[in-house]
Amino acid sequence: MTEGRVYNFSAGPSVLPEPVLQRARAEMMNYRGTGMSVMEMSHRSPAFSEIFTETKEKFRSMLRIPDSHEILFLQGGATLQFAAVPMNLMEGKTADYAVTGNFSGKAAKEAEKYGTVRLACNTEACGHSRIPAQEELCLNPDAKYFYYCSNNTIYGTEWQYVPQTAAPLVCDMSSDILSRPVDVARYGLIFAGAQKNMAPAGLTVVIADRSLTGRELPYTPQIMSYKTMIEHDSLLNTPPCWCIYMLSLVLDWLQEQGGVEGMEQGKRERAKLVYDFLDGSRLFRAHAEPGSRSDMNVTFRTGDDGLDAEFIAFAARRGLVNLKGHKIAGGMRASLYNAMPLEGAGELVRTMKEFERKHV
Ligand SMILES: *Cc1c(COP(=O)(O)O)cnc(C)c1O
Repeated sequence: MTEGRVYNFSAGPSVLPEPVLQRARAEMMNYRGTGMSVMEMSHRSPAFSEIFTETKEKFRSMLRIPDSHEILFLQGGATLQFAAVPMNLMEGKTADYAVTGNFSGKAAKEAEKYGTVRLACNTEACGHSRIPAQEELCLNPDAKYFYYCSNNTIYGTEWQYVPQTAAPLVCDMSSDILSRPVDVARYGLIFAGAQKNMAPAGLTVVIADRSLTGRELPYTPQIMSYKTMIEHDSLLNTPPCWCIYMLSLVLDWLQEQGGVEGMEQGKRERAKLVYDFLDGSRLFRAHAEPGSRSDMNVTFRTGDDGLDAEFIAFAARRGLVNLKGHKIAGGMRASLYNAMPLEGAGELVRTMKEFERKHV
């Protein structure tokens, strides 16, 4: 690790691979003989067009996205998709929403403006500490789609299975995309904000089954219409050029690390280190139930808010930063995204052990 850098457990925007940052720096002043940085070039220039096309191709091959599905590079964050999804896919009718955390709850609330939302489940009563089993999902035969969030960034739970539904699956993968292989053909639509596991903030990737598009409500803004954006290859207006370039560097790095299979192995190892410690700890305990636990965001607490704050400060003095949990969940959260090295998880466990020795 470069001198002076920390282990950054931020949930988002979050850590990027060091080799990616170094490459961006090397190409900053003069991108491949253009005499300018990617930030400064026209989105219609040959140099940027090449970056755009290559990034899309790399993304398609990385996640093995079938030809039936389009890749869009959009703006507005995952939050804009909370509205874009019902505007494009609900046809003013009804959809099923699995509420297993903060962001799926927000998405369901937004969708209510455009049709009838029915909750396939709601885990609020248990503090969103678990993911329901397939048999527990309440599915409505008229649903235009089934919506869920594969990884709950704030509560630290992750779906360990792909729900089986008659309606097309729509999934918010903001915090676990590119961390494992995905059978994209099973999904009607996938979206993800880039700033958790892909690139800097400002880019949202949408993967859409083309056959579901073109049914948007008449007042859907052009910029939110999947059909329009597909027709313009995401270039209806200026795309987030720099973020797309950064994504291409991240995809190169990912390829070198064994692709999504390599990422899956890495995330399992990192998360296992931390959960194994938590399960044996006399001071800390994990929030999420076994079987529902996220490999990307590990949530834990001591049970004492004062002690939690003390631990967060203790860890920060050792160069482990951004361990404070989200304000609605409290406690601690260690985000262990693709770019977090295994040593970062190891350091975290060592630090927890040391703190535990002092306090138990
Ligand atoms: C961070 C996050 C969001 C919100 O993303 P924005 O880009 O800030 O709109 C939505 N869903 C999930 C799962 C997230 O982790």
